[in-house]
Amino acid sequence: MKLTIKIITGLITGILVGLGLNQFSPELFKIFDSYLFEPVGSLFINAITMLVVPIVLISITLGTAGLGDPKKLGRIGGKTMLYFLFTTAFAITIGIGLALLIKPGAGSQVNISAAEYTASQAPSVIDTLINIIPKNPIQAMAEGNMLQVIVMSIFFGLGISALGSKTKGIIDLLEQGQELMVYLVNMIMKAAPYATFALVATAVGSQGIAAIKSMGLYMIVVVLALFIHTVVVYGGAISLLGRSNPLDFFKKFFPAIAVGFSTSSSSAALPVAMETAQKALNVPKNISSFVQPLGATINMDGTGILQGVAVVFIAQTYGVDLTVPQLLTVILTAVLASVGTAGVPGAGLILLAMVLEQVGLPVEGIGLILGIDRLLDMTRTAVNITGDASCAVIIAQSEKKYEANEDEAPEMTEEMT
Ligand code: ASP
Repeated sequence: MKLTIKIITGLITGILVGLGLNQFSPELFKIFDSYLFEPVGSLFINAITMLVVPIVLISITLGTAGLGDPKKLGRIGGKTMLYFLFTTAFAITIGIGLALLIKPGAGSQVNISAAEYTASQAPSVIDTLINIIPKNPIQAMAEGNMLQVIVMSIFFGLGISALGSKTKGIIDLLEQGQELMVYLVNMIMKAAPYATFALVATAVGSQGIAAIKSMGLYMIVVVLALFIHTVVVYGGAISLLGRSNPLDFFKKFFPAIAVGFSTSSSSAALPVAMETAQKALNVPKNISSFVQPLGATINMDGTGILQGVAVVFIAQTYGVDLTVPQLLTVILTAVLASVGTAGVPGAGLILLAMVLEQVGLPVEGIGLILGIDRLLDMTRTAVNITGDASCAVIIAQSEKKYEANEDEAPEMTEEMT
């Protein structure tokens, strides 16, 4: 709780200092930003990102091995995927619905001809599926290709579980590695309040009030949709399926939410998110280790909301009426495309380019929302990682009934859970 309060303090001071400097002395902001905010923020992001590949490798390998038999893995994997797909589809629909209702782009004053955006290549869905198995594990790790690292770790975990005590040495090594990672996450998190301050000051200060005002309605729709999704979908799922108190969940998970918010990266927030889910929300290690890394890569509900709102906003600004089949295409493309895109800052815009192309809207339209996207990226990333944690809580609850009659589970499984 003490850390939470410190982080909130960092967050609020960051907003105030960023806005204040931007308002009264943009020059001074630039100096502070280059020599203080940016470096401090980047140091923190680097330190925490440094742990991501080893954590995903270790935790998914141990998580898979700990789940024991492939049947259990299939059951948990199936439920997890189902939850991810449904919640993302919900998220996009909420985004579309709200944007159609509030019409943030209709009659807007934005200058279409000034819109500029060159789309970077988003991976095609079929390429993602083919490349899901890495040819070279070292390359997958070096490039930080999370989907590949996950698949490779699942293979390792299955092998370890099948070989049982023959792989005792590897299991010991991985368990010690896990201890080490937990220690390092806690160590780095001590810097989180200061990093939050620096990251938020940079983001808010570089945008300023003018940019926020001109895109006000669009921002309100995105934030409102994120809020509705969080309260209705996660709150509902946690209380109905997870049998837990949603308020309690949000309160306990807050340190991770704050790190997601300030870093704008689900991947960077992953180590903290897992640690918080296991310690504060009591999600068993093997479930959290499997569900959350997978979610950080393939489940992005906040990003889905951005797709929904932005597509409708851009269509309204260009005076295009979207048909129902087009809207369905948006939902389908956004759900599938998010599978192959890692949770890093700005990933949502790459996805958006793909979705816009799919429904025949001008990709340059992204230029309209680019200015304030850094701010919205923070809010949607916070939602993205909350979605993964809510899934972990729900799966943990749904697995309880199996655990009760699983006394015949192999020795190794018990050892590792
Ligand atoms: N920054 C988001 C994330 O890491 C992705 C996005 O750009 O929407 O989850």
